[in-house]
Amino acid sequence: MNNLTDINHIWHPFTPLLGGFDHIKIKEGKGAWLVTEDDRKILDAVSSWWVNIHGHANEKIARAIYKQAQKLEQVIFAGFTHDPAIKLTENLLSILPKNQKRVFFSDDGSTSVEVALKLAIQYWHNQGIEKKRIIAIEGAYHGDTFGAMSTADRGAFNKPFWPLLFDVEFIELPTHENFESVRSHFQALVAEDDVAAFIFEPLVQGAGGMRMYSPEALDNLLEIAIDHKVVCIADEVMTGFGRTGKYFSSDHLHYKPDIFCLSKGITGGFLPMGVTVASERIEAAFKTDDFTKTFFHGHSYTANPIACAAANASFEILTSEECQENIKRISTAHSAFASKIEAHTAIDNIRQQGTILAIELKSDESSYMSDLRKRIYPFFLERNILLRPLGNVIYILPPYVISADELDLIYQAIEEFLATMD
Ligand code: PMP
Repeated sequence: MNNLTDINHIWHPFTPLLGGFDHIKIKEGKGAWLVTEDDRKILDAVSSWWVNIHGHANEKIARAIYKQAQKLEQVIFAGFTHDPAIKLTENLLSILPKNQKRVFFSDDGSTSVEVALKLAIQYWHNQGIEKKRIIAIEGAYHGDTFGAMSTADRGAFNKPFWPLLFDVEFIELPTHENFESVRSHFQALVAEDDVAAFIFEPLVQGAGGMRMYSPEALDNLLEIAIDHKVVCIADEVMTGFGRTGKYFSSDHLHYKPDIFCLSKGITGGFLPMGVTVASERIEAAFKTDDFTKTFFHGHSYTANPIACAAANASFEILTSEECQENIKRISTAHSAFASKIEAHTAIDNIRQQGTILAIELKSDESSYMSDLRKRIYPFFLERNILLRPLGNVIYILPPYVISADELDLIYQAIEEFLATMD
C-alpha cells in the first residue's frame, strides 16, 4: 500500500495537516498489543482512545460479529426491531440503575450526548414548559458535534465555532477547597427555575485531563438539581463499562442521573455505537398520543444488528468473573505504583479512579497545549508503548486483559521518563 495516499489524502482526527507525527501503519492487534507493518509490537496503554476494553481482536466478539453478519447485517430501526437490540437493551438495563427505562441507539459518544441534550429540552417542551438553560462543568468534553461542543469547555479546539455555540452556564470542577462556592453558584443557577439540564462526566473528566472529583461533591450537586427537577445527564462515554472500578461511574453515587450517555467500551471497541438511556420520568413526557411530541431523531445505522451483537458479546465478557477480577487487579496495581512514585519532584499531582491512573507533571502550561506533550508521546513510542498524554498529564487507561508484566512495562517506562525530569 502506498503511504503517500495516507500523507496526501487522509485527514486524521485532531491532527495538524503539517508538522504532526508520522502515522504508524498497524496491520493487526492482539490483546493489549498492536503490530506494525514491520512487525514492531506496541503496547496499547490507552485502549485505542478508551474503546478496546477487552483488548484487540477478541475472539468471542469477532465470532459474534461473524455470526450476526451472516444472518442480518442491518435493518431500518423505525417500524422494525431485532433480537440483538432487544438482548442488548436487557443487558444494559440489568446493570444500569433501576430508574433507567428506555434505550435510544445512535452512532458514537457525541451523538449519544446530542440525543441526551435534545431529550432533556424536549422533555420540558412536551409538558408546555420552556426551559432551555443547561449547566455544565468547566473543563468538560462531551464530543465534537455542536450540542456537545456547546456544553464543553471553550478552548482552542472549538474556537472557530464559538459564535455558533449555544450559551451554557459553567460551574467550576468541585474540589475540597472551592466546594462551598461551587455549591452556592450551582444553587443560584437552579433557583432561577429555567434550567433544563445539568450535564457532567461523573467523577472523571476524560479529555479535559483526567481531572477527578469526589462522589460526595457530585452527590451534593445532584441533590440540589433533583430538588429543582433539573434533568441530570451522566456522560459515561469514557467512564462506563468498568473503567472506574464499577460498571458505571454513577454507581459510586447515591443520587442517580435521569439520562446516561454510553459509547466507547460498549462494543469492546469493535464497532461504533452510541446509546442514550432515559429514566421512566423522562420517558413519561414522550408517552402521549400527540404525534407532535414524538422524539423526531434517528440515524441510518440506529441499533445496527452487528454492532449490537458485538456489544452483547462484550457485555458477557465484562460481566464475567475473570474480567471483574482483572479490573480489581489493575486498580490495585495502579494504587501501588502511585504510592511508589507520588513523591517524585516532577509530579504535581497523581490521581486514580479504578483502572485510570493520571500523573500530572509540573509544567508552566497546564493544558492540552503544554509543550511537554511533544516530549512525552515520542518518548514512550520509542519504547513501544502507546501513551497519548493530555498536555502535561500522562495517563494509563489499559484494556482489562493487560497482564501484570505488561503493566510493569508501562510503569517502568514512566519511571524512566520521570528520571529524565530530575
Ligand atoms: N463524551 C466523553 C466523556 C468523551 O470522552 C468522548 C470522547 N472522548 C465523547 C463524549 C465523544 O465521543 P465520540 O468521540 O465517540 O464522539
